[in-house]
Amino acid sequence: MTEILSPKYSLVVPIYNEEATLSELYRRVSAVATHLDGEVEVILVNDGSRDRSLYLLRDLYQKDPRICYLSLARNFGHQIAVTAGLNFVQGQAIVVMDADLQDPPELILEMVEKWQQGYDVVYAQRSARRKEGWFKRMTAYWFYRILKRLADVDIPTDTGDFCLMDRRVVDILNAMPERNRYIRGLRSWIGFSQTAVQFERNPRYAGEVKYTFKKSLSLAINGLVSFSRIPLRLSTYIGALSALLSLVMMLLVLYWRIFVPSSPLTGLTMIIMAIFFFGAVQLISIGILGEYIGRIYEEVKGRPLYTLSEVAGGLPERFTSEN
Ligand code: UDP
Ligand code: MG
Repeated sequence: MTEILSPKYSLVVPIYNEEATLSELYRRVSAVATHLDGEVEVILVNDGSRDRSLYLLRDLYQKDPRICYLSLARNFGHQIAVTAGLNFVQGQAIVVMDADLQDPPELILEMVEKWQQGYDVVYAQRSARRKEGWFKRMTAYWFYRILKRLADVDIPTDTGDFCLMDRRVVDILNAMPERNRYIRGLRSWIGFSQTAVQFERNPRYAGEVKYTFKKSLSLAINGLVSFSRIPLRLSTYIGALSALLSLVMMLLVLYWRIFVPSSPLTGLTMIIMAIFFFGAVQLISIGILGEYIGRIYEEVKGRPLYTLSEVAGGLPERFTSEN
């Protein structure tokens, strides 16, 4: 597929409407590549862009033999685009990075150093986010902390998908059949020796944020549901607590009925409130249940993770993901 037989380093970059950032991305990545001690391949994954990104990718591919690109047949979302890229990499050390230069390519050199020291996963940890809105900063801050408390595996806080992984980690990741992919969680789940490098997250180089609030929320729910069963248990706990509460209330009412003839406990307000409260608790519980069941349904359907429309200038050898 690529002209290079076995590159040492592979870079996977998902691209969704990034026409404004691509040439700068290429420039910065090329500059970093000259400092690396081996062949580099860059796999750009077009995630169903609607702008000129795909044309630009074809162009880069013609121009530079280190560049390879895949094009998904529609927008499958960031995590799946990265997954598709990982299915194609050939290098020994694999870096996943965003296209908008919020993840500085220069950090790769630092990551490679750690890899050479023997770490299998080197993830980039944000020490600060520059110029991102307070809402995003606050929700991200709390999300990562809640996830850390609830998740079964130790998912480090303030880390995104920007990381370097050793070949063996990527091989295991590729062999994982799950459809709801929360890559930063799966990466932790796999284990091996992991370490962090710190960086400050810069604002996007150009273009709009592609992660809308809806997409971010869905990623967050995905992370929680995929890595924790505590939300399920939560409804059990709340249920048990309410049962206890109603038992106490029943006894109380009984007592009042029998021993206090002029009891004040006839208020309609209280009944209405209780109905609303328990209605809400039940609906939330069903909702939580639904999240898990929906995921089972997704997995059971067993559809491919993505469909491919183009690989490196030609038709793909296969049109869907392998698992
Ligand atoms: N992206 C993608 N598919 C999508 C949304 C985003 O491939 O549906 C890519 C996007 O091109 C970028 C990366 O994922 O390379 C991160 O997106 P963005 O910068 O918009 O998100 P944020 O910085 O808020 O995480
Ligand atoms: Mg970004």
